[in-house]
Amino acid sequence: MSEADINAVIEVLRSDFLTQGPKVPAFEQAVASYAGASYGVAVNSATSALHIACRALGVGPGDAVWTSPNTFVASANCALYSGAEVDFVDIDPRTYNMSVDRLAEKLEQAKATNSVPKVVIPVHFAGQPCDMAAIHALSQQYGFQIIEDASHAIGGRYKGEPIGSCRYSAITVFSFHPVKIITTGEGGMALTSDPVLAERMVQFRSHGITSKPELMHPRPVDEIWNYQQIDLGNNYRMTDMQSALGLSQMVRLDEFVTVRHAIAARYDELLKALPVTTPWRSPDGYSGMHLYVIRLKLDEIHRTQRDVYESLREQGVGVNLHYIPVYRQPYYERMGFKAGYCPEAEQYYREAISIPMYPGLTTELQGQVIDAIDKALKP
Ligand SMILES: *Cc1c(COP(=O)(O)O)cnc(C)c1O
Repeated sequence: MSEADINAVIEVLRSDFLTQGPKVPAFEQAVASYAGASYGVAVNSATSALHIACRALGVGPGDAVWTSPNTFVASANCALYSGAEVDFVDIDPRTYNMSVDRLAEKLEQAKATNSVPKVVIPVHFAGQPCDMAAIHALSQQYGFQIIEDASHAIGGRYKGEPIGSCRYSAITVFSFHPVKIITTGEGGMALTSDPVLAERMVQFRSHGITSKPELMHPRPVDEIWNYQQIDLGNNYRMTDMQSALGLSQMVRLDEFVTVRHAIAARYDELLKALPVTTPWRSPDGYSGMHLYVIRLKLDEIHRTQRDVYESLREQGVGVNLHYIPVYRQPYYERMGFKAGYCPEAEQYYREAISIPMYPGLTTELQGQVIDAIDKALKP
């Protein structure tokens, strides 16, 4: 948080609006124009953005939604909120994103049983863009819609264009949770270039209500109808306080991502001598660099992943694990998913550790992280 961030929120507290004032549309405009999409719909989380995106695309009972197992549970839960079924496409062992080959195979099988999904949700894991051109080509061939879960990827680029342009998707979702690249405390946004989808998402964000006369149902002219509820939505609105913070953070977005890349480059160098695999970066993309994940070469060290993880925590290094394959969660196991379903995602999960990655990470702290890793890897 900079002084400018803090002052931006204070200015709203002194203004006439706490919510639904001028800052929300200003923030939506700033993010949409940065990303090159026509519309931004700001909401109270990326989870809500994924839900309204599914609703706007007509996802409902009887439909299927596919996503990556290597993601936060919200990427899959949005299908369940909408009454649809969810399924998972295994990951590419190099990018840790949804594998396009596995997707193509699974679509071919689904076509034979008339069960092609309505929506596929690729997740730009760690900020690295998925192979969107290939996924988009499959969407044309098989007839599904795409929602990009770009919760990790604001500020990144794909084939030279900002992530969020929606060139290869119907809708792109960003998260502004504090662990992500820019923050509004809690918050998210759904971007699209389709005015009909944008309008539907605006309705679902606020109870399914519209105040646009052209969308209202005819009623006797002597009755007052300043708004109508025309569908069932939620209260997913973002406040002006959050939007003011987001607008202020947008000013430093490019700087945040540049610093993250410098940190990643230093890690690449410092980790060369250790028995770990560092993240591969596709020449097609520029990552938002939300996460830096190392994979332990377990056959070269005499320690388990858990030993290393716990040793690092004990040494005061804030390591994490992104992600437990979603379908291994007890809730998903109850739906019938079993261990072994996506072997690449599981193999990855058994070797991965996310090491500290945030703009305030100094060279000195990075050196300490490396020393701690070195120590943790030794028997
Ligand atoms: C953080 C995250 C979400 C959910 O974001 P919230 O804003 O916390 O709801 C969804 N998908 C992915 C991949 C995430 O990392």
